[in-house]
Amino acid sequence: MSNTPMSMMRGVRVSVPMAWKRYKSTAVAHAASLTDYRVSDNKPAAPRAWERSEVQALFDQPLLELVFQAASVHRQHHDPRRIQLCTLMNIKEGGCSENCAYCSQSSRYETHSQAGKLEDLENVLVEARRAKENGSTRFCMGAAWREVGGRKRGFQRILDMVREIRGMGMEVCTTLGMLNAEQAQLLKEAGLSAYNHNLDTSREYYGKVITSRTYEDRLETIEHVRNAGIAVCSGGILGLGEDESDRVGLIWEMSRLPEPPESFPVNALIAIPGTPMEGQPPVTFQEMLRTVATARIVLPTSIVRLAAGRHLFTESEQAMLFMAGANAIFTGHRMLTTPTTSWNEDHAMLDRWGLSGMKSFETPRMAVDEHVSCDSSSSCGCARQQNRPAAEHAEVP
Ligand code: SF4
Repeated sequence: MSNTPMSMMRGVRVSVPMAWKRYKSTAVAHAASLTDYRVSDNKPAAPRAWERSEVQALFDQPLLELVFQAASVHRQHHDPRRIQLCTLMNIKEGGCSENCAYCSQSSRYETHSQAGKLEDLENVLVEARRAKENGSTRFCMGAAWREVGGRKRGFQRILDMVREIRGMGMEVCTTLGMLNAEQAQLLKEAGLSAYNHNLDTSREYYGKVITSRTYEDRLETIEHVRNAGIAVCSGGILGLGEDESDRVGLIWEMSRLPEPPESFPVNALIAIPGTPMEGQPPVTFQEMLRTVATARIVLPTSIVRLAAGRHLFTESEQAMLFMAGANAIFTGHRMLTTPTTSWNEDHAMLDRWGLSGMKSFETPRMAVDEHVSCDSSSSCGCARQQNRPAAEHAEVP
């Protein structure tokens, strides 16, 4: 009884140990000091520079202490009741020349995935409308390509997809493999909001997963995306046989980018028969939670996205991931080649936990992007003109 932190129990006065009081004030102060920047005028100040050993120390804390700190940081930078709903469509399945050891779409492995052609524009727009009607505010399109280079007609069709979907008032993301600077610029001009290009794992472990392109190749594409003014979506996969220091290494690499990624997707491996990873054991919930919470603290302004494998976790586990700072999910009927939960199930889940979906362009980063073309003669009343928090100007999808 003397160790309980409660000051009163059923009329019995219990003294609160000084150690607990000291612990509480230290923990709250620690959480506040974990990030040294706030969002003001839609522009984060320079991110905190993390040593890898500091990220490791965060990661190694007792799990619930880590979650508490992550939840505190989350509330400084995000509305904790809002979750972004995204839908990811596979617009060109299979036949990829890369050798990512987890992927069913690599042509190097015998898997259920069949090589297909690039989807027609109209089919994609039908899916995007359906996603919007069901409450998704970001529509992502993935093509199983090593790179965009040399696919002129296909790339033009993708630019049309981006234009049309952006015209629906949705945020648009693509993942098309490696990009050069010119391709990134064309995507930006078409209205692309974000580009996904994962680092997957730590620099040291990367070579155990992929040998057909390097970590530096990936960083170069990310640089082209950033230079074009497109938001960077980059994250990783848990369960590739990596150890905890590789998860720390991945998060640390993200913190060293010139700007933190707008979005950090966390995938739990779904071991696909026929791939070199087919025998990997599933990621535990605690491993997922620890990684999400650490990412939330180290990347405080990023959207932390629960990606492939979310359906492996129970609803209560997902709620705890939201508590630890995850604030986006993929929803719909399929995620590239793996299942995900449906819009109806996800809306019901969010309702049960007092959560709701984000609007399009709700986050400061996206709102600035949406209004970037405003000039002083325009009368749209956007955040840029009125110097008000950008989220106030979010458009209802
Ligand atoms: S580049 Fe993408 S589609 Fe190709 S094998 Fe790797 S993960 Fe799969």
